[in-house]
Amino acid sequence: MPEVKSKLSAKAASAQKLQAVNPATGRIIKEIDEFPIKQVSAAYQNARAAEKEWSSLRMKERLAYFRELRYLMSRKLEQIVQIISSDTGKTKTEALTADVMPVLDALVYFEQNAERILSRQSTSTPLLFLGKKSYIEYMSRGAVLVISPWNFPLQLAMIPMLSALAGGNAVILKPSEVTPLVGLLIEVLFKEAGFPEHTVQVAHGGKELGAALTKGKPDFIFFTGSVKTGKIIQAQAARDLIPTILELGGKDPMIVFKDANIERAVNGAIWGAFTNSGQVCMSTERLYVERPIYNAFVAKMREKVIQLKQGYGDNDDIGSMTSPLQLDIVKEQLEDAVCKGAKLITGELPDYWDSSNEMFIKPIILVDVNEDMDIIKEETFGPVIPIIPFDSEEEAINMANNSLYGLNASVWTNDLEKAEKVVSKLVTGNAAINDVMVSVVNHGLPFGGVKQSGIGRYHGEGGLRAFCHEKAVMADTGKKNYEIQWYPYKGKHQLFLKLFQNIFGPDKKWGESAKLYLDIVKYSKK
Ligand code: ADP
Repeated sequence: MPEVKSKLSAKAASAQKLQAVNPATGRIIKEIDEFPIKQVSAAYQNARAAEKEWSSLRMKERLAYFRELRYLMSRKLEQIVQIISSDTGKTKTEALTADVMPVLDALVYFEQNAERILSRQSTSTPLLFLGKKSYIEYMSRGAVLVISPWNFPLQLAMIPMLSALAGGNAVILKPSEVTPLVGLLIEVLFKEAGFPEHTVQVAHGGKELGAALTKGKPDFIFFTGSVKTGKIIQAQAARDLIPTILELGGKDPMIVFKDANIERAVNGAIWGAFTNSGQVCMSTERLYVERPIYNAFVAKMREKVIQLKQGYGDNDDIGSMTSPLQLDIVKEQLEDAVCKGAKLITGELPDYWDSSNEMFIKPIILVDVNEDMDIIKEETFGPVIPIIPFDSEEEAINMANNSLYGLNASVWTNDLEKAEKVVSKLVTGNAAINDVMVSVVNHGLPFGGVKQSGIGRYHGEGGLRAFCHEKAVMADTGKKNYEIQWYPYKGKHQLFLKLFQNIFGPDKKWGESAKLYLDIVKYSKK
């Protein structure tokens, strides 16, 4: 439907307004005021002023706002799901289970764990510094910029925002211009939950605004999006030495051994590849199946895939694509694959796509694919799954690791020992055994990629601390006038040599060491 496409492409075109268009129907839902670029510096001033107050609240007080937000979201669940579905074209079930639920669950995680994770952590002090106390403290960074994408527009904005807020930071969110209605929803939710003014600011706009906010010297940047934009943001951040977390793309492999539960593996592969129309950074994008079961596996997959229902009703399985620009990428990769010999087992080639319903791509299974094809090398972000047979464990591992990306992977076999061994050899930030994608929804686990899939982690303990300055402190009572390693050095060198040989060598000689220590103390007091 070219009309839909031109409307969608126009989303970011207007100078002052973003158009929210439902990609499944082509209907314009709302126009949203853009945040003026000239107000970027004022936004940072407001954020820093708000951060002073917000960071001085006790954690319990901050988390009371989180609880309010959770209750508010629970009350408005149906409305939230409706907004997400109409802004993205995804089914309401997917909006609920994959976009809203992870935010609610993250809120619970923060409410239950943030105080423990961000409170002062005592640590041991080496024997030589006897009498001192050591601890780690977590301090807010200041104004955190979150730039978010369109595929899971709620959770990929709100979870980093909440991580930053838990740490006492103020947040500026630049949501994706492709899904501006969800950006507006987030703004309204924080306002209605009563968060103090400017603790959260939502700047609606396109990539020019994103670039201006990046240049505006935030204290930390959290970005989710394409590798291309991630590199631009990282280059800008490097100029001002601004720390970042980058959550980028994936080309996730799924390895199925012949002893796997085939029925489960087929169902997992179909969901892993086609949920959200494949527009998931962790979706299954390469399927490696052990040769003895390859033909049966492909046949069973075909049988089930042709039964999937596309549409935007409550009982439909696959919604529409969200961004027309992504449609072009899927088309190009398919054309490249078919030119190089790939065959479609389900779905249609772009030439046959229904032009009146173009945002709904029929799920495509591809065979006869090889590693020279873009469909195996580049992120597709669409409902396409290429399948390749393999003959040995080593071959499967090598093919899985032969990628610029390393976000997520899965291994399927009834031999759990073998599964863990294979997972240990995969170069990836996340992995699942006999399951797909699932680690991202366990908020206790860190989430992030290796290689071009990203830098840094959020979720989990480390992912919360990442939004804070980590301060290492050693404290002395201040009663004695000296330290043994301070001046004067006179008389101490040989004593130190013996002392260190004693305490770091195999034979501790504690009695002699204590005497050497006391002799050094005597010289230190002179
Ligand atoms: P996609 O192509 O999937 O939309 P992008 O990486 O282009 O992914 O976009 C992700 C987010 O990054 C969006 O919010 C977008 O507006 C923003 N963005 C795009 N280009 C830039 C840029 N140069 N600087 C900062 N943000 C940008």
